Parts: sequence; structure tokens; C-alpha cells
Amino acid sequence: MAWVHHAAMFLPALLATILRLHDPAGVPTEPPVTYVLDYGTNHLDRADWLATNRAAPPELLHLGSDVPMTSNWGPVRKIGGENVAYGMGDFTLPISPDDVAQRMTKLTEMVRALHAAGVKMVMPYVCTMTIAGHHERRAGFWSFYDRWNDYAARFDLGPRPVADPFTWLQRKPDGEIHRFYTYTGDYYPGYQPNHRYAACVNNPAWQQWMTREVAMVARCGYDGVFTDNGGSQRCYCELCQKLFRDWAQKRGLKDDNLLHAPSKTGDARYAEAQRFWLENIHSYQALLRSAAAMINPSFKMFANGGHRRPQNVKLAFADSDFIMFEKSFGPLGTHPGLADGTNVNHNIVELKFVQCLRRRVKPIILTRSGYPKSQPPFEMNKASASLGCAEMAAFGNGGGFLIRPNLPSGAEVIRRWNTFHQRHAGLLSGNDSLATVGVAYWSEQTLFSAKHMTSVTALSDMLLASHVPFDFLMEENFNEQFLSRYSAIIMPDIAHADAARLAAVAAWARAGGRLLLAGAHPADSPLLAMTGSVTRIEKLPDANILGTWLRDAAAIVDDGRPELRRVYINLFARRHPARIVAHVLNYNTPLGVDALPPAPIENISLRIPLPRGLKPRCVTAFDADTDTAQALEWKSGSETLAVTLPRLLISKMILVELSPS
Ligand SMILES: [Zn+2]
Repeated sequence: MAWVHHAAMFLPALLATILRLHDPAGVPTEPPVTYVLDYGTNHLDRADWLATNRAAPPELLHLGSDVPMTSNWGPVRKIGGENVAYGMGDFTLPISPDDVAQRMTKLTEMVRALHAAGVKMVMPYVCTMTIAGHHERRAGFWSFYDRWNDYAARFDLGPRPVADPFTWLQRKPDGEIHRFYTYTGDYYPGYQPNHRYAACVNNPAWQQWMTREVAMVARCGYDGVFTDNGGSQRCYCELCQKLFRDWAQKRGLKDDNLLHAPSKTGDARYAEAQRFWLENIHSYQALLRSAAAMINPSFKMFANGGHRRPQNVKLAFADSDFIMFEKSFGPLGTHPGLADGTNVNHNIVELKFVQCLRRRVKPIILTRSGYPKSQPPFEMNKASASLGCAEMAAFGNGGGFLIRPNLPSGAEVIRRWNTFHQRHAGLLSGNDSLATVGVAYWSEQTLFSAKHMTSVTALSDMLLASHVPFDFLMEENFNEQFLSRYSAIIMPDIAHADAARLAAVAAWARAGGRLLLAGAHPADSPLLAMTGSVTRIEKLPDANILGTWLRDAAAIVDDGRPELRRVYINLFARRHPARIVAHVLNYNTPLGVDALPPAPIENISLRIPLPRGLKPRCVTAFDADTDTAQALEWKSGSETLAVTLPRLLISKMILVELSPS
């Protein structure tokens, strides 16, 4: 087996690593936030609800359509819920300008009271694209459009757009309207007897309405807005066709006709059309932010649409403030923890991807025990809720893990993590990840095929179980300067590659870096001809083999205890003040309503790499669940620091303070 031989060559490079602390590349970490999503319909004049929030205030509270006018219907009776909820009957009846004004007053009071209760950020729901109603019967949004001028001056809506809302809609290549939503019979089931339409984010009239909508949200005192259905722009309207011609010229594309873009993956024209639409969404997010920023300069954009779409996170939402990963489906649910005694659920790939983007955006994780039906054996409990918060601190760059209002122990978990975030804000801020192993996670590969993403996920599981701290490397990171941070890089299943990026990694490998090409790789890549520093395998090896290969990069010593393979570690570092922050998490935490708390794991040996020129001064472990700090025993070698963690229940954050050696 040839790769075993190569494996032996893989090790010395890791031993020869010259680890340095860098100034953060891009945006460094911020403390996470506790996060609650509450789509209730009855939040106005509710002292009891305010008291619940005061007792355990989430740092980010995400509400439903608690807005003066809903984005999809306009000024109607409906309040709370998301897009589909309350889309029928009396809920969709119009309300008068006086009613809207009164609602704005009440919403403003509610937001002020939530802030006074300790909630830092409150953000309601809008949809980026849905129009609800009936364009022929002039119902719903059309009824509002026909009465636009009754509201325009009072709520700063601007002049009524001349073109009818039917012309604001996304179009298919044949010119028909593009609906996106599954119909049963003649109507959209949630809106019967009305329709659900999808507007084009490039349409100036739709932009006018949505900028005014978001401005109204800001005027109620909200700190930002949640924009749902953020990734569904696939419009071939005349304006989009024109904008694509400009895009094609800028990008030097041969074919500038958007109508030629196929609707399925596998073609470069498909990929380019997706890039175009994602850039449309990116601009639209910026436009909505700028409208609200005139009222509140720090107004935040919180988009949905990250799950299984890393390319959207990078190309559409990198400059938004939050991106939600709505993880509804998984055979064992999606809550973090031990699902069935053997298998671990985690959100680390999503969190690490957003962190390694090193842009403004922060991850929000929504998990479920099952969907549409919950599965009690995989339900969240107090310990797994705490693990979810610990995971956000350990692998994210800020952001929040959803604690639902109905979790019985939710208030306790929120209070506990609020305290942790506040007490350790400094330690959670200004960090960058510290890893000598890089994994290419080229999200734009998914514009061609999902294979790369699947391989990255499988590889991540192997590295986590082997306790190898790793970074995801974006396409843009493939320049020689950035790659010099790493001693080993793995490129799994790359189907398309830019020549300059391959040249950069080739130069890095010639300078001593060790490269593993796993699975597909472009046939004309210069890397294929390289020997010695480049190893190629047809398929990813199993976790044991990879663990052997990268044994010397492991930050936890594997002493054979099976439960240790479900203990995951991540390292962050900061140069000024010089420190390493290690997070150690116990994924042996059982899921399930009636699950017992996890059994503590004792005497875990950590081996933390030491940056050149620095020596440890003090090692302290912090435990969010017990709100305790403990000095740890340590022993320093020239390149590594040995630390024994006496006891791990759910999570520990370990601070290594460094000084010049
Ligand atoms: Zn369009």
C-alpha cells in the first residue's frame, strides 16, 4: 500500500513546523451571543413575556413579523410568525394608516422594554422576496399597492412605483413568472385563496419597497432585521439579462446571454449565472443595510440561507452580520451531542467555514431533533444546549446557537452563557485560529458538484476524531504568503481550479510544505507531476490511517480510551497579548429528553504547539457550566506544551498566557 510509505514522509514536515503567531488575517473573533428565536404572535403589551425575557435575556432575540407592515402583504392584521404562518383569513385583512402608526408606537415600546430587560439585539422577520396576494383580484399586496398613497407620506414609502407589482417578479427563461414554492392545486396552500410570488431583488420598485420596509423596522428601534429566503434569486427578467451582460463584460466571459445559462449544475455557464445572482443578493443586502443605517448606523443584517450553501455564505453574505444555518434534517436530528450512543452530531464544519472566511459575517445555528416531527431520543436537553453554546465559542467567530423558548432548562443555560461571554469577552475577542494543517474548502466547487463539500465534511470528522486542529482554506487563501502558515494541506476532491492557485500551492510545496491530494483533481494540474512533497490518494483513508499520518499534529494524546475520540479540540491564538486559547468539548454528551448528563472524562493529556520565541507563563481552565477557573499543571518542551486536564464534563476553555522566551 503505497500511501503508507508516503505517510511516513508526511510526518517530518509537521515536526519541522515553525509556528508563529500572526496578526489576524481579516476579521478576528468576537464573543458569541446567546440566541433565542421566538415567532410568537402576541408580544405587544405583554408584561409576562417581558418578565420571561428579563429573567434570562438572550443577547440576540429574533422575532417573527413583529413589524409595522409585513414585507409580503403590506399593512395587515397579521403580526408575528414567519412568511407562511397566518397567511389566510382575517390575518391578511388590511389595517389603516392610524392602525399602522399605533402599531409602530407599540413595537417601539416593546423593543425599548426588551433592551431595558437586558436583551442586547432585537431583530424581526422579513422575507427578501415573497409577495402575497392575487394580482388579478387585487388582493393582498396588490390591495396595498392600490392604496399606496394613503400610507406613503406618513411612513416614508416614497412615490408609488409606476409599474404594477406583477412586473416586479422573477422570471423564468421563457418569460413566465418564477414561483419557487410548491403548490397543491391552484393556490399556495398557506395562502389560499391567494398566491405566493417571488420578486426580483434587482427590480427597482421592489428595492424601493424593501428599503422602506427595513427603514420602518429601524425606526421601531430594532437593532437589525432577519431576511428569510435569502438565496432564492434565479431571475431571467429583462433587467437581469441586461445586468448579466455588464457582468459578463466585467468578468471577460465569452457568452453574455443569461438565457443560455442552464438550470442545473455541470456547466460553467450555470456556475457563472449563480455567481451573478449571488452577487445580486450581496448588493441587495448592502442596499437594505444602507437604508436602515440612515436611522441606526449600526443596524445589522441577519440572513437565512447558509445551510449546505457555503458558496452563498461566501459570495452573498460575507459582509452581512449573521448567516443562519437552518439545519432541519438529519437521520439522528441535528442537535449537537451524542445521538445514539455512537454517532456524534456537530456544527463544526459550518462554524469553522464562517470563521475561516475571516469576514464580517457570523454564524447562527438552528438545529432540530427532527422535522417536521420532533424525535424525543434526539431532543435537546440542558447539557446538549450548553454544548451547543460551547461549540459556538470554540469553533465560531462569534454568532449564536439557538436555544428555543420552550426548552425547560433554557433560561438557566442562557444565564450561564451570558455570564461566560461577559466574564471572558476579552479572551473570546481578537483571536484567529491556530492550525498548521489546512483543508481546502473551496465553496465555489459546489457550483459544479456537491462532491467536494461531502468530502470536506468527511475529512473534518476524521481530523476532529484525531484531535488535529485545522483551518479551512478558501480559494482566496491560495497565495504563497497565506499558505506559509501551514505545514500540511489537504485538497479533497477538487474538480475545477484556477491555475494561479495551483501555482501558489505548488510553490509552497516546493518550499517544504506537504500536500495531500485526495480524490478528484484537475488532469492538467501541475501538482500531479510533483513527487516527494505531494502525495495522492484515490479516496480518503479512514480515520485511523489519517490519525496515524497526522499523529504529531494531534493536540490531545490518544491513550486508547474510545470516548476520547469524541472529545474535540480547537485552538485560537492572539499575538498581542500573546496567548493561546484552547477549547476542549465533550461530544459524549447524550441527546434525548430523558438523557443522563455526560460522564466526566478524567486526565486528558493535551499537547499544545508553542509558537517560536514564546514560552508559557500560566495555564488556566475556565468552565462555563460551573463558572469556575482552575490553574492547570503544565510542562513546557521547546515546541509543545503538555497540559493535563483533570476533568472534562461538557466543555473547558483553556488559556495559555505566553511571554517571550
Ligand atoms: Zn430579475
